[in-house]
Order: sequence, then structure tokens, then C-alpha cells
Amino acid sequence: MCDILKREKKEFLYEDKQCFIVKTKNMKGHKKRVMIVSKEHSKTLDRTIEKRLLGFFVVWCKSYFDEPTFALVEPTYATHPEHWHRIACDWNGTKKEIKQLHYTPHIAYSTKEGEK
Ligand SMILES: [Zn+2]
Repeated sequence: MCDILKREKKEFLYEDKQCFIVKTKNMKGHKKRVMIVSKEHSKTLDRTIEKRLLGFFVVWCKSYFDEPTFALVEPTYATHPEHWHRIACDWNGTKKEIKQLHYTPHIAYSTKEGEK
């Protein structure tokens, strides 16, 4: 694993052989903003692995977020640009962030809360 990942290990909310989940450094006004990062030092992943990681991330987020919906956002500039990653956040961002979010490709998912 890369040094940068080792350094952040104590902050992992979830970890397995392929990936880990951490809160993002910059919360941009959100109450919850997390990202899933692949441990592999590569910007892209095998399509099958990517699909599996995304599927897992969505399920994990459904329990993590406590509001009716959350957004899964296309990759932007992040702390680990050399690693495949995806960000998920709630809708509590700063004005600028929410505006930005609407212009960034994203998918809204309902959480366990939203499915009640
Ligand atoms: Zn790396």
C-alpha cells in the first residue's frame, strides 16, 4: 500500500483488501462527505472490479447517511488523484458547493431512511 494510505489508516471508516472509505478532508459544508478509494495505485480499475466497488459503496452509504437521499458524485480533484475514487455526500453543502454539485454528474440514491 502507498505511504499516503498508510498514514491515513487510522481514519478509515471501512477497509478491505481492495478499498477503504474515509471522510474527505474538505467537507465543503456537508455534514457527511465520504469517499471510497481503491488501494491499487491506478486511476482506473477493471470494469468488473469498479462495478463491484461502486455497488458495495452504495449499500454502505445507504446505512451511513441519515437523511433521505445522498449523491454519488463523479470523480473530481481529490486527495488521492493517483487512485480510483468516488465521493458521496449529503445535500448540506455551502451555497457554492450545492451549485457545483448540480453541475457535476451525480446520481441520487435513497438511504434506508428514505426507503421507509
Ligand atoms: Zn498509490
